[in-house]
Amino acid sequence: MGFSDFHGNAETVRRLREMLAHKRFPQAVILAGCPGAGKYTLALMLAKAMNCLSPAITDGLPDFCGKCSNCVRIAESQDLAARVAEAVEARESLRETDRKDTRLFVQTHPDVLIVPPDPPQLMIKVDQVRRVIETIYFRPAEAREKIYIFTDSAFMKEAANSLLKVLEEPPEFATIFVLAENPGELLSTIRSRSMIVSLEALPADEIEQYLAKHRADWNAKQRSLVARLSDGAVGCARGFDLAGYTTARGHALAILTTALRGSDHSELFKITETYRAGAEGREKTEKLLRSIYSLLQDLIFIISGTPELARNTDILADLRKLGESASFDWIATAADRLAEVERGMRRNLLRSLSLDAFAAALEK
Ligand SMILES: [Zn+2]
Repeated sequence: MGFSDFHGNAETVRRLREMLAHKRFPQAVILAGCPGAGKYTLALMLAKAMNCLSPAITDGLPDFCGKCSNCVRIAESQDLAARVAEAVEARESLRETDRKDTRLFVQTHPDVLIVPPDPPQLMIKVDQVRRVIETIYFRPAEAREKIYIFTDSAFMKEAANSLLKVLEEPPEFATIFVLAENPGELLSTIRSRSMIVSLEALPADEIEQYLAKHRADWNAKQRSLVARLSDGAVGCARGFDLAGYTTARGHALAILTTALRGSDHSELFKITETYRAGAEGREKTEKLLRSIYSLLQDLIFIISGTPELARNTDILADLRKLGESASFDWIATAADRLAEVERGMRRNLLRSLSLDAFAAALEK
């Protein structure tokens, strides 16, 4: 238990721990990286290291014990999606007048406040930042350092301006983290008052090693596939919905095969029929569309003679066979049509209808 549990970006983590050791940790840090890169995990680890009651030293640098009451309570925030869902549910159960004034937070330690984007707009709102301003100037009660973690960089305008005011003069006992997929989305004045730390994507073989340890339920072929599909993000790889992806990809392959090889259509209609309207159908259809894109991309790699770049390595033989009938022009048209289906979905056209139209439009 400690920083050794953080996978990848070792140099960046070491640099941050050195700042802790020299008591030069910045008061505002923007942790940048794609979804699943480990931004939130790292922010919580740093919060623990700053507040651990029996702080350990590993590799000559500050670490945390994971067992003291500060570490344990901070760790209760680890499952962010579950904590946010609880907070949303608690708010839903309030009387309407109270609900309006209740902003979303996750707080499992009195000195660590986590600020998620507030639904339905999924942005950080000014009232959430106001809570930060109201509390940040009081000394921590049970920790050494007050920690604020904004889990998203999408701020409403007024909220961003309020955050800026805090950043102009933060108390010396507080540290603010802003997690950002794209720091460019933040006000330049917020960026200039923060240190930007980027978590880089990991190479596929490093992710495979990680999965060998943490997803022993997958075989080597599956781990290799997931490593290639998760864009270098350990968090995405670990929680990857392999069964869902495999189903969607099976359908995607059938749709492309029918289109390219003109085989039996009844099979195709059986598939498209299972894609219905509504929230659940929407998610399923989005998975299907992503799989089709992923297969089209692999087809490009195959017909341009670089099959080693393909990501769906476990079905390479099927893809090669498809590649014999596909041309660059056909793939470009397919990608265009796919974009049309996506636009139709946004306008809420009947799912199965547009999928059938898509399949028909691709016939050679
Ligand atoms: Zn501890």
